[in-house]
Amino acid sequence: MSDPIAAVERFPRARLGHAPTPLDAAPRLGAALGIELWVKRDDCTGLAFGGNKVRQLEFHLGEARARGADTVLVTGAVQSNLVRVAAAAGRQLGMDAHVQLEERVDEGGRLYRASGNVLVDRLLGATLHALPVGEDEAAADAALERLAGALADEGRRPYVIHSAPGRPPLGGLGYVLAAREMVTQAAALGSRFDAVVCASGSALTHAGLLVGLRALDAAMPVHGICVRRDARRQAARVAQVASALAAMIERPEAFDAGAVDVCDAALAPGYGRLNDAVREAMEMAARQEALLLDPVYTGKAMAGLIAHVRSGRIARGSRVVFVHTGGLPAIFAYADRLGRW
Ligand SMILES: *Cc1c(COP(=O)(O)O)cnc(C)c1O
Repeated sequence: MSDPIAAVERFPRARLGHAPTPLDAAPRLGAALGIELWVKRDDCTGLAFGGNKVRQLEFHLGEARARGADTVLVTGAVQSNLVRVAAAAGRQLGMDAHVQLEERVDEGGRLYRASGNVLVDRLLGATLHALPVGEDEAAADAALERLAGALADEGRRPYVIHSAPGRPPLGGLGYVLAAREMVTQAAALGSRFDAVVCASGSALTHAGLLVGLRALDAAMPVHGICVRRDARRQAARVAQVASALAAMIERPEAFDAGAVDVCDAALAPGYGRLNDAVREAMEMAARQEALLLDPVYTGKAMAGLIAHVRSGRIARGSRVVFVHTGGLPAIFAYADRLGRW
């Protein structure tokens, strides 16, 4: 039988991460919630603290290498995991990194600007640039293009990783492959899962899983938990990215925003900002399972999972995979907001 996702192989890929990542049982946390809980450990993808951006950037860096780039440019929040992993990926392939840090989280104090991902960016020797606007992806990309132009004038060969939608969502291919990993791991356990829960931000993870599971004939509900924008806008984003990805892997299909499962109950008061449900989720995961979650993404995703179980949207007794997308360096940057000893 032919491989339904073989077309992914047509895209240049730089191997950066450890895969397959473990699929761990989480029996105590599962029992506390009344479900059978499994955790896909994409916090363990390896490169410079790992996370979901490692799988995504394998395709960007593959393209950068194929084009002979010597410098990668990337934009993100001050505590961006994408920026940190892009800088690390560049280094691993012998490239420099210029990173643009956007002011998206207005309450950032000293730790927010110096610790966590920023510290790692600096250790990696990335060149840091500040961008005063925080929620305008097109403007962030335009500023990055200007930086790239200046570098090209100096004789460098820059490669820009854009953030606004509209270009081929290369990073999503990493999650089409991750879907296959999960299906293979589920088969080895002799079980099928009832649902997947993941954070939904740029939507590359969420859309990649949707497209991959569908192509592999293993479709199950993928509950995306909004971390950046409200459910209506996020559903449109996921549908758009999923449709583009489906075309890229030569299984064209129009995904309908109305059929995308997203929830923004854990989002308030906004991107990168904590609430009590996130604190509760981080505490429960740490105390029941020694499973560390981050405050920006996986803490919100787990808060969303807990809310879905409590509301009955995920039925008691369900077999659920929680995708741990990483982000752990941020716990140090948020130390003063996570309580005191
Ligand atoms: C970026 C990120 C996400 C969101 O994934 P998208 O593919 O952007 O939707 C989730 N968790 C962590 C830790 C991240 O860094």
